[in-house]
Order: sequence, then C-alpha cells, then structure tokens
Amino acid sequence: MKTADLHIHTTASDGRFSPQETVTAAKKAGLSVIAITDHDTLDGLFELLRLQDPISPLESPLKIIPGIEFSTDVPNHEIHILGYQIDPQNTALTKQLKLLIDDRVARAKKMVRKLADLGYPIDYQRVETIAGQSTAIGRPHIARALIEKGYFLRIADVFHHLLQTDGPAYVPHYKMKPDVVIDLIHSSGGVAVLAHPAMVHDDSWVHKVIEYGIDGLEVYHPTHTLEATMRYIKIAEKNHLLMTGGSDFHGIPGRFPERLGIFTVETTLADLLLAKKIPDDSITL
Ligand code: AMP
Ligand code: ZN
Ligand code: FE
Ligand code: FE
Repeated sequence: MKTADLHIHTTASDGRFSPQETVTAAKKAGLSVIAITDHDTLDGLFELLRLQDPISPLESPLKIIPGIEFSTDVPNHEIHILGYQIDPQNTALTKQLKLLIDDRVARAKKMVRKLADLGYPIDYQRVETIAGQSTAIGRPHIARALIEKGYFLRIADVFHHLLQTDGPAYVPHYKMKPDVVIDLIHSSGGVAVLAHPAMVHDDSWVHKVIEYGIDGLEVYHPTHTLEATMRYIKIAEKNHLLMTGGSDFHGIPGRFPERLGIFTVETTLADLLLAKKIPDDSITL
C-alpha cells in the first residue's frame, strides 16, 4: 500500500535529520508522499529545491509537498496550524517569516539569560552551533545545550524542569493569532490544517478555528488516542473539512516515532489535500 507522512520536521527547524537525509530516509521507508512542515520556515524546502538533481539515480520517486507549521497566539492552548502548498515566494509570507525568525533569536537569548539566573549557565553561541543551519531556533536546541553541559540526561527532563510553558526559563515567542495565520496561508495560495487537534485540549477552540476558515484537521497524529481520532474524523466530516495525518517526526531519540515509515497515512489523504489547490506545484525528487 502506498503511504504518506504529512507532518515532518528537519534541521531547518528543530528536527535532527537534514532535508536531504529526510528524503533518503523516506524513500528507504517506502513512502510515496511526504510534507516537510518545519516551524516558521521554508528553508528545508529551499534546500531541497537547490539540491534537486534530475539525473541522480532515484530508488523511487517521492512527492514532496511544501509545508510549514505555525504556533499561534492563544494563551494556555497549543494551537498549531499547518500550511500546505503555499507559494514560497509570497511577499507577505516572506515578511512575516522574517519577523518570526528574528524574534526566535531574541527570545532564545532571553531564555539563556534566564537559565543563567536559575543556575544553569550556557553559552548562547553554543545554542546557535547546535541549531546549525536552523534559523528557527527553539527550545529543543537550548535543551540540547543544557544536556551537553551535563545538567540533564533527557530532553523531556529539561522541558519538565525548565522549558515547558509554565517552566521558570520559558519565554514565549512571537506568534500570530490563528485567524491571521489562516488568512496568511490562504493569501499565499495554501491550504490550512489544524495540527494535532487533541493537543489543543479544548474542542471549543477547535470549533472556533473551524469558524475562522480552517480547511482541514490533522486527525491522525501519534499523540491521538483512537477515541480522539474518531471524534475529529466526525467533526471533519460534519464540517466538510479535509482530513490529514502525519508522524510529527523530529528524529529525536526517545520521542516517537524514532524513524520515518512507522506512522503513516494513506496517500488518498495527500491526494485530497493537493486537489484543494490547482495547479499542483509540489516537487518530485
Ligand atoms: P519552541 O517552538 O521553541 O517553543 O519549541 C517547541 C518545540 O519543542 C516543539 O515543536 C517540540 O518539538 C518541542 N517540545 C515541546 N514540548 C516538549 C516536551 N515536553 N518534551 C520534548 N520536546 C518538547
Ligand atoms: Zn518541533
Ligand atoms: Fe505542533
Ligand atoms: Fe510539528
């Protein structure tokens, strides 16, 4: 059976595999369609476009859907919105991405200062080195710097003690309101999907996002129970929304899934997503 994974992070944000390594791993895993959905950046996609080499021997063709994941500004709720098939050259989008990325740098520096005050000094320079090619510097990069220093053993422990949203070293980053994100995705020619709706922990917000004009719900996600999946399928059907799914792969040891291909969805879902937008400007590598 042909399979797809419509939610994947790379080193362009806080994933551990480069876009190229992700493509290779996806092919090895036998996937037919993937979407790269890094936080606040399209750099992974640009890297793949640069690497696109029509004469390289391909084990299997892999369709790559351009995507992105935005966190939104709703206090006390994790409302993440995925944008698919956006025009990477869109001016308004490019401008907004620069604001988000610049703020991530300022915010990371603030968190490093807070950590020093809390007795966990690390060099900001080290965080930047760990982030490598990622411009979307995030908490996972800071967590790795803390682990390197020997303060903690696991990323989950760092979040638990310091970096989770109510943790002492947490600093929020600049986010847009969900309706603004949806409008931005639409004006960039894309399709907006509410990521892991169960993580919102409040279905009244799911309904509000539907009112704002979301196009789909990510009904299949590793954090979803069967009950949650069934509930969001029903909500999607009732509201004539697309249904999508993905593994939210980061390549982080100890965080499921540790490799691509073990949490997949049928390619029909990707076909329906692509059919929402004409022409299909995904790339094949
Ligand atoms: P940021 O965008 O910098 O606020 O970081 C958010 C990212 O941190 C998420 O996309 C996850 O990859 C990661 N994350 C959030 N909460 C946890 C947690 N409790 N344990 C491990 N990673 C987490
Ligand atoms: Zn992430
Ligand atoms: Fe998310
Ligand atoms: Fe994600």
